Amino acid sequence: MAEVAVVGSGPNGLAAAVVMARAGLDVRVYEAAETIGGGTRTSELLEPGHVYDVCSAVHPMALASRFFREFELERRVELRLPEVQYGTPLDGGKAALAYRSLERTAAELGTDGAAFASLMGPLVEHLAGVLDVTQNQLLRIPGQPLAALRLGLATLEQGSPWWNRRFTGDAAPALLSGVAAHAVAPLPSLAAAGAGLLLGALAHVGGWPIPVGGSAVIADAMARDIETHGGVIETGVRIDSLEELHPAKAILLDIAPPALLGMAGPALPTRYRRSLETFRFGNAACKVDFILSGPVPWTAPGLAVAGTVHVGGTRAAMAEAENLVAAGRHPVKPYVLLAQPSIVDPGRAPAGRHILWSYCHVPKGSTIDMAEAIMSRIEEFAPGFRDVVLGWKTTTAADLANYDENYVGGDFGAGLLDLRGLVRRPVLSRVPWRTPLPGVYLCSSSTPPGPGVTGMPGYHAAKYALKDIFGLPVPGLGLGA
Ligand SMILES: Cc1cc2nc3c(=O)[nH]c(=O)nc-3n(C[C@H](O)[C@H](O)[C@H](O)COP(=O)(O)OP(=O)(O)OC[C@H]3O[C@@H](n4cnc5c(N)ncnc54)[C@H](O)[C@@H]3O)c2cc1C
Repeated sequence: MAEVAVVGSGPNGLAAAVVMARAGLDVRVYEAAETIGGGTRTSELLEPGHVYDVCSAVHPMALASRFFREFELERRVELRLPEVQYGTPLDGGKAALAYRSLERTAAELGTDGAAFASLMGPLVEHLAGVLDVTQNQLLRIPGQPLAALRLGLATLEQGSPWWNRRFTGDAAPALLSGVAAHAVAPLPSLAAAGAGLLLGALAHVGGWPIPVGGSAVIADAMARDIETHGGVIETGVRIDSLEELHPAKAILLDIAPPALLGMAGPALPTRYRRSLETFRFGNAACKVDFILSGPVPWTAPGLAVAGTVHVGGTRAAMAEAENLVAAGRHPVKPYVLLAQPSIVDPGRAPAGRHILWSYCHVPKGSTIDMAEAIMSRIEEFAPGFRDVVLGWKTTTAADLANYDENYVGGDFGAGLLDLRGLVRRPVLSRVPWRTPLPGVYLCSSSTPPGPGVTGMPGYHAAKYALKDIFGLPVPGLGLGA
């Protein structure tokens, strides 16, 4: 038995394993599925030659993550930026588009351009301080208080009923809400506003890149690094009890709270156990992946070169759809999140063809196939869309939960993203990655800073495991280290 056991090979389990292996420790990773990666797997879609991301597809969070910057991800995998980072189709054949350049974005937003720039500009300018807040446990004194204050004030404004206060038209609000709706939360709400402002600001710094070859290249880069440093990864091995991992000195668990209860329940102190038992999961996604005979026939020209498109109409229409989901209902006209990976990575589909990645939010545990609703929504802004669809594959929320047990009920955030869910993740503690069991750490996105392919929960958990158990600092993670 290795001295460090990591359960789960999602980006967070792999990040923890990279840190521990680089520290010179003997590391073994156990993954229940037959392939590594968790939410960063890439697979074949329906026919040979069509390559799609089963879960994550677009990686502004990886690009900005402290872990991946230290790991030099950009030197290990090719991350390509689309010409338009993200966009939202509007009525009348128009679209609101976010470019890497904030100036160009504002210029094309017309009357609300200056208002958009005045909201986003300070966050872009103080991004390091914003990331210091958003990549850590929220319960700490921020490293850059001024940046934290700016983020807090912008979040209060965009998360309140006064969110249109600075705008006069539809375009800028729709652009902002398209991003805020990623949070699977009511609109407006503080959680959605915070997530939206962070992701929005990232578009104007590093951008929203798509990895050439699919998200699995990120997991593969970490796996190679673990193995280069002597670590071993075993797939097809599900761990059901901590007993199976003894006598490992450090155990890092890329699992959700119910799984920790299953593995160690009786050994956990009552108070901690109660926190895990009452941990709340959020709503879910129904994913639909398409093979297309050509590009999506968007009416608005800029969307053809957008990596990500938020289809949901106006801010009010997006809010209506998201608030229905929050109330446990399936919207007839959902807010749809689309990625067009083959426009920047043509190798994802045979010549002339495209793949299209999409999902909409649904209530937790849903077994409803939303393919028809998603197609109708796209068709509204891209007439003729159905004519280019050659085939599709639906993954319902219930399928997602079966696919990856961390996504309880299909909640791919692995925990509700409201203010309480962000701070108490899964416990209210300055070091929530530590469990009360000596040597046992939780490192999944059910711990801060939460979901997204950042590796940060794994990085934080490994940092404390190194310090607590081995008295070691975090090692260098770069290619030359
Ligand atoms: C449809 C969808 C779209 C998404 N889009 C994006 C996106 O575009 N960009 C982005 O940044 N993020 C996106 N995400 C979120 C991102 O994928 C997750 O936040 C991230 O993968 C979480 O990483 P993790 O390591 O915590 O857990 P996971 O990636 O879920 O990995 C957990 C792993 O642990 C394994 N495991 C669990 N229990 C056990 C056990 N008992 N024994 C052994 N193995 C076990 C699981 O099989 C799994 O492989 C998306 C997610 C989904 C589902």
